[in-house]
Amino acid sequence: MLSTAQHSTHLMQVEHIAELRERVQAWRAAGERIAFVPTMGNLHAGHLSLVRAGRTQADRVVASIFVNPLQFGANEDLDAYPRTLDADRRQLSETGCDLLFLPSVREVYPRGQDTQTRVEVPGISDILCGASRPGHFVGVATVVCKLLNMVQPDVALFGEKDFQQLLVIRRLVEDLAMPVEIIGVPIARESDGLAMSSRNGYLTPEERALAPALYQALKATDEALRAGEPIARAERAGLDALDAAGLRPDYLSVRRTEDLDPAGSEDRALVILAAAYLGRTRLIDNRRVALE
Ligand code: AMP
Repeated sequence: MLSTAQHSTHLMQVEHIAELRERVQAWRAAGERIAFVPTMGNLHAGHLSLVRAGRTQADRVVASIFVNPLQFGANEDLDAYPRTLDADRRQLSETGCDLLFLPSVREVYPRGQDTQTRVEVPGISDILCGASRPGHFVGVATVVCKLLNMVQPDVALFGEKDFQQLLVIRRLVEDLAMPVEIIGVPIARESDGLAMSSRNGYLTPEERALAPALYQALKATDEALRAGEPIARAERAGLDALDAAGLRPDYLSVRRTEDLDPAGSEDRALVILAAAYLGRTRLIDNRRVALE
């Protein structure tokens, strides 16, 4: 209680780019460093860990809530995506966020989405989640590029939960020479191992009970790799664990941490990435493995 009270801030809210710039520029003129945490709202402890990490990096933390239509496919959950603004604002304030940027779709895409300039990070956007969700990472890269230009932070924080997204963003910032430091924050999990996600709220109680199997499958793959199994066998162990639990795998793959290329037997810095359906809900998770 005491720690949240200590960190509690008066949370300001702005909806327009001009007001956002005015506020951030005043801080910068006073010599303050700015951290930025972009989100789609429905905040949980994972998002709040990004805000806390931001507080350790900067004097001011700006968060955004924007459910970005450009990154949702035609048959995805854009309309159903949970919107819990009052609770989000309370949590941001308790965690020490200074400013909430809450733009409308019109503010972000004033000419409409179809004529919007797009940012494409080739290669890495087309594999894994990008293969299952065509156009998704173009939507992500475009909105993140825009948000970074709107806020102009010194640092921006992203969760390792979306590991591929983090790499797409690192690459876009590097390729476009954007003057911002990108920081990855470890995955926040429920006590049973399930990675926290707004989409967990879609699960029925029965599905929720099965959901930690995704994390268990990553651990099974990890154990197989550490036991010296070939990569294909380790992946098979993970996929079998998903099947046995009744999850429908989209992919489970061992990749190089650096660029998400398929891992070879010589590679030591690995990440196991998986996506699986539980009923109609698509869950993702990953686990890094450093082999000796
Ligand atoms: P979202 O609102 O899902 O777009 O997520 C906003 C940011 O929070 C992204 O950088 C995510 O990677 C991050 N995030 C979401 N879930 C978690 C989690 N369980 N642990 C750490 N970061 C997370």
